[in-house]
Amino acid sequence: MSTFVIIAIDGGAASGKSSTSRLLAERFNLLHVDTGSFYRAVTAELLRAGVKTDDVDGVRAAVAGLKFGTRIEGRSARMEINGRVPPEAEIRGAEVTAAVSHFAAIPEVRAALLAYQRGQADVGREKGFRGLVMEGRDIGSVIFPDADFRFFLHADPEERAKRRALEGRQDAVAERDRLDASRKTAPLARPEGATDIDSTHLTLEQVVDRLSADIAVRLPL
Ligand code: C5P
Repeated sequence: MSTFVIIAIDGGAASGKSSTSRLLAERFNLLHVDTGSFYRAVTAELLRAGVKTDDVDGVRAAVAGLKFGTRIEGRSARMEINGRVPPEAEIRGAEVTAAVSHFAAIPEVRAALLAYQRGQADVGREKGFRGLVMEGRDIGSVIFPDADFRFFLHADPEERAKRRALEGRQDAVAERDRLDASRKTAPLARPEGATDIDSTHLTLEQVVDRLSADIAVRLPL
């Protein structure tokens, strides 16, 4: 059986994870899994159902009723909730962005997504990809601690704020990082043994080349 390579990329908001992961997926024919988009999709669904971030019992009950599926678009995994894929405009909007870290701090929300996230490896294998590049906050620490490659991306806060502004997106990057790093369950942190990449002074291409050099040892181009 041919090898299926798992690459975990963690980092804070606007640290360059998504652009890097997308390009790696193209270069090596990997399934790209943006787990932030999963937390965002769940958040969109909870907000649609009128659940408030501080109503933990309401969140638990609502999450228990969600059925997850996966739709592949190009090389990306999109989350389906109860048969519907929440649109990008909805999950990237200001309302979801402001609420997502609050819902993501609730252990039952994280538990509901755990097996689903691990199951993306089976989806990737079934669809004939050579591996999986999964990005998030706890991929190398909780979801795939035995991943073939684990990277941790970071960049100075001013640089990250600049990147979001260039995208025209409203996002309190530092505040989300503070919430994500201080929660009790699966906080944002560099997993022990992960390769640290500071992208502040690197172009996207340089970051992708740096990670590719490691990955190509296992997956020849
Ligand atoms: O990656 P992105 O910024 O889109 O993630 C949105 C939010 O989802 C994060 O701020 C965090 O609260 C949550 N998240 C998480 N664990 C992950 C991925 C995202 O808690 N693995």
